[in-house]
Amino acid sequence: MRKKIIAANWKMNMTAAEAASFMEDLELELKNFDGAEVVIVPPFTVLPRLSEIISEIPGVTLGAQNMWHETSGAFTGEISAGMLREFFTRYVVLGHSERRTIFGETDELVNKKVKAALAASLRPILCVGETLEERDAGRVHEVLSRQLKGSLAGLDTDQMLDTVIAYEPVWAIGTGRTATPEQAQEAHAFIRKTIGEIFDPATAAKVRIQYGGSVKPDNAKELLHQPDIDGALVGGASLDPRGFAKIVKAAARS
Ligand code: PEP
Repeated sequence: MRKKIIAANWKMNMTAAEAASFMEDLELELKNFDGAEVVIVPPFTVLPRLSEIISEIPGVTLGAQNMWHETSGAFTGEISAGMLREFFTRYVVLGHSERRTIFGETDELVNKKVKAALAASLRPILCVGETLEERDAGRVHEVLSRQLKGSLAGLDTDQMLDTVIAYEPVWAIGTGRTATPEQAQEAHAFIRKTIGEIFDPATAAKVRIQYGGSVKPDNAKELLHQPDIDGALVGGASLDPRGFAKIVKAAARS
């Protein structure tokens, strides 16, 4: 049974004080709730404060938005997996489309980061997804297959099981335009089949695949009801604790 995983990608939003206040509200909303794993993915500057707060809240863990694959050295502006682990960070989002398009990250680089994260006992949330142009050209499977094979190259099955995949169609991120549940399910089933080919079907059946792209309280339930959707990576709607709690609860009921 794959436990649903709902992650809040705050992107470049929230000060430490705002994050503390968010967590107070979220904790109240999710009191006695254990129907899904919740991951808060704040900016790096907020990790120290949240690591103290989150250690007191069962079922809630901490994630980071990015990392560099080397352990230390002359990489100005970067952060290592070991530095993230210092603050009890459990997950790290890798290959987000904003990293790929704004910062030019390739599958090869993402693969190095995935391996470095796993070596430091950090669980990657690996983002894949096609642009609108690629969807319109009928290239969704080709793009997903290339991203998965490139980013997961060289992993063993245990490492695959420690990795979460996030299917995030680029045209749905921050646009208010969500994939229909049918479009999302189709892509998720393809991702699972591809993981089955890279590894084996039994491993693929256990891997959790999140959907991301304009998930909101009013569309979460239908998406999370799909058989191959095991959670959500939520951007904009994760900045409001009440709205985010509704999305988390929608996961539990599905
Ligand atoms: C994201 O950034 O991963 C995301 C899915 O953003 P949004 O929910 O705002 O579309």
